[in-house]
Amino acid sequence: MKTTFIGLGIMGSPMAANLVRAGYDVTGYDLSDASVERLVALGGKAAASVPEAVAGADVVITMLPDSPQVEEVAFGSDGLLEHGTTGMFHVDMSTIRPETSSRVAKAATIKGIRPLDAPVSGGERGAVDGTLSIMVGGHPDDFTAISPLLGVLGTTVRHVGPSGAGQTVKAANQLVVGGIYGLVAEAIILLEASGVDPESGLDVLAGGLAGSRILELRRHSMIKREFTPGFRIDLHHKDMGIAIAAARRAGVSLPLTGLVAQLMAAAKAQGHGSLDHSALLKVIERING
Ligand code: NAD
Repeated sequence: MKTTFIGLGIMGSPMAANLVRAGYDVTGYDLSDASVERLVALGGKAAASVPEAVAGADVVITMLPDSPQVEEVAFGSDGLLEHGTTGMFHVDMSTIRPETSSRVAKAATIKGIRPLDAPVSGGERGAVDGTLSIMVGGHPDDFTAISPLLGVLGTTVRHVGPSGAGQTVKAANQLVVGGIYGLVAEAIILLEASGVDPESGLDVLAGGLAGSRILELRRHSMIKREFTPGFRIDLHHKDMGIAIAAARRAGVSLPLTGLVAQLMAAAKAQGHGSLDHSALLKVIERING
């Protein structure tokens, strides 16, 4: 399949690289020339614009920061919907609002383009290793057709419902991840304030019922206060907004999600937006003087 990858950032770069390694013919486009050059060095091709990137593609994958960037790349006279051909797949792997996903999908379908929302979980590590969890919304036949490609990028790949459903599952994922980071931060503060070695303490937690992927991957760096992203606070703040809006639309109350959203907002307000989301620890530290 001739595949185009738009958005070669922390996640998109290694994902596109994995497709090249798996033998896909991959063309990359990003606002950053350096990111495109990195892909070319691995055997991909470069495009200088969205229309050039989309020309002749069987599949266009977008991996962009937020809803406005996906709308900018999808719509308009230079957009992928205008330049895509009938039968082309548009797989949006960005984390965006479910209603934006549905709107882009509706417009794509009118043009004969086959849309899927396929946000991911697993972080940069999962993107590099090709072990992402991928939650896919859209037509079941389109999911089946694109599954082999998604299987290169992830190990848990599920169809979860119609257009936008993938984004709703991702919102649920993000509220859980944010909550766990907040609680791991509180556990570290409690252990340190009590004079207990946090390394030994969290080693035990990681092996018991409290164990999680977050404790497995991030406990050592959190204790050392190393917050190189990974996943930026800015992006998680965006995702908590998506989760709160989704809850409002569904007519449900998610009190813990509300609290985590405020802590994430505090992290951003305190100037930590470009740090990894494990820097939620800095907010809990500050609350405790
Ligand atoms: P990033 O900021 O590192 O990458 C985004 C890329 O998109 C950048 O290279 C940027 O130059 C490019 N871009 C922005 N606007 C563009 C445009 N109009 N045209 C072309 N390129 C454009 O972000 P990321 O961490 O790779 O995240 C991408 C998406 O994946 C986000 O929605 C994020 O929430 C989600 N996500 C990230 C992680 C993570 O751990 N980083 C994990 C899961 C999901």
